[in-house]
Amino acid sequence: MSILYSKVTAVIELANIVHNYQVLRAASGNPIAVIKADAYGHGLSQVAQVLAGAGADTFAVGTVEEAVALRATGHAHRVIALLGPVEDAEYAALWSAGVIPFLHTFEQLDRLAQLEKDQGEVLPVALKFDTGMRRLGFTLADVPALAERLKAMKNVRLEMVSSHLATADEPEAFSYVAAQAEEFAAIRRELAALGLAHTANIANSAAILGHPDLHLDQQRAGIALYGGNPFHGTEREALGQDLKPAMSVKTKILSVHGLRAGQSVSYGCTYTAPEDKTVAIVAAGYADAYSRALSAKAQMCLKGSRVPVLGRVCMQMCAVDVTGMDGVRAGDDIWLLGGDGEGRITPEELAAWWGTITYEVFCLLGLNKRVFI
Ligand SMILES: *Cc1c(COP(=O)(O)O)cnc(C)c1O
Repeated sequence: MSILYSKVTAVIELANIVHNYQVLRAASGNPIAVIKADAYGHGLSQVAQVLAGAGADTFAVGTVEEAVALRATGHAHRVIALLGPVEDAEYAALWSAGVIPFLHTFEQLDRLAQLEKDQGEVLPVALKFDTGMRRLGFTLADVPALAERLKAMKNVRLEMVSSHLATADEPEAFSYVAAQAEEFAAIRRELAALGLAHTANIANSAAILGHPDLHLDQQRAGIALYGGNPFHGTEREALGQDLKPAMSVKTKILSVHGLRAGQSVSYGCTYTAPEDKTVAIVAAGYADAYSRALSAKAQMCLKGSRVPVLGRVCMQMCAVDVTGMDGVRAGDDIWLLGGDGEGRITPEELAAWWGTITYEVFCLLGLNKRVFI
């Protein structure tokens, strides 16, 4: 949460996150709970706490700073920082806060080699390998040098090796998944041949649900924990049917008034009423992370029904069509995401209107104030 002045509230159903965790654990055995970026906007400490209560023992945040913040809430389980250490203070915090870093460069190993001599404890680390994402990571060719460096350190121990899949949620791109998996297997064989014992993970949410052959020792569960179906809109959509979205987002109606035939509403007069209409002005706009890209595209849920957004989304307001609905008043709740009954807005629908993915919808709308139920 970091939007200060807004009428928008994200309602987080923590029980649904626990439900999704149980679905994923039943599917794959040993999911690491990925709670980076404030748990995809759902609340870092709150999500960590309920998942720890449900039996999760390993958590993955983004920055080392986020790991330190999680520790400060009293979190006592294993914490991985997926982005790894970047600045001096983050290197120092690895030992003091007990954070397992993802490492992806030899420079990081150099820094750890300097620091480890002064430490009284062994730091478990994770090596990130690039097998096709081409973002961060060591490669197969780096393994001999990695083995040499790790064996020379006393207070740094290899705990796990990881790689990330670029196309696991795209059924038409499974050959790329297979190629990445093969490369990862070759890396692991080389590590083992050089005497480096480790545990391994490569599966994200899509691979947990759709690639059981890639479950390995652990899995890294992100979007599915929050009820996003990675296979939405594909022929494998049913794989995510048991997941329950955990975030709903509501705000207030500010005004209800008539729009006569021929009158326009909002900036640019992009919507003109073809006949007499009733509009509600809603307290949500792009300053509340309700994107201007939703102008004239999105729908909201009001009293269990769908109402369309008319014209442009402004900074803190937008208009919806409530023609023919009885009893709509200033002060009423209206749902940007979720809501009751038939009119409930799914994360996938909102993402489609927005021109993005559920991940971004959750991260951005979760910047608003949150309540936990
Ligand atoms: C975010 C992230 C995940 C989770 O991916 P989902 O598609 O949300 O399940 C897994 N691994 C890494 C390295 C990540 O950064």
